[in-house]
Amino acid sequence: MRICDRHGCDQPGNCPAPKSPNSPDRWYFCEAHAAEYNRGWDYFQGLSAEEAAAREASERRTSAGYAQSKHQAWAGPGDGTRSRDEMRALDALGLEPDAEFDLIRATWRGLAKANHPDIRPNDPEAATKFQQVQAAYEVLRAAEERRSWKPE
Ligand SMILES: [Zn+2]
Repeated sequence: MRICDRHGCDQPGNCPAPKSPNSPDRWYFCEAHAAEYNRGWDYFQGLSAEEAAAREASERRTSAGYAQSKHQAWAGPGDGTRSRDEMRALDALGLEPDAEFDLIRATWRGLAKANHPDIRPNDPEAATKFQQVQAAYEVLRAAEERRSWKPE
């Protein structure tokens, strides 16, 4: 039976561990020492400088890509970051997803005026529309406020 390669250990060594990346040479550890070895495993050990640099660059690209998509959340309307609530609200106002806030406000004013209870008394359809338009504008106005706040 194979014994753990860790110096001084006499447990059965059933867990192969590569001596270095891309190397066919293996240590054989017991479970406890295999776990210890894996924790201390140097990710870059045994790679050529060029390979290590390439791996590091590709990992930095991944995290930079993430940082960039987080930044886009602050970029403003029309960039595809609208929430589902905002999309529903825009739909209620009959606007496109990339509508600027000025257009949203103008459309809201027009629709709110046209469906206002003072203008269309005893008109349940207008009353419902008026409420929808008010709720939609509230969602979009709040989203615009969140967006125009710039982190320092
Ligand atoms: Zn061991």
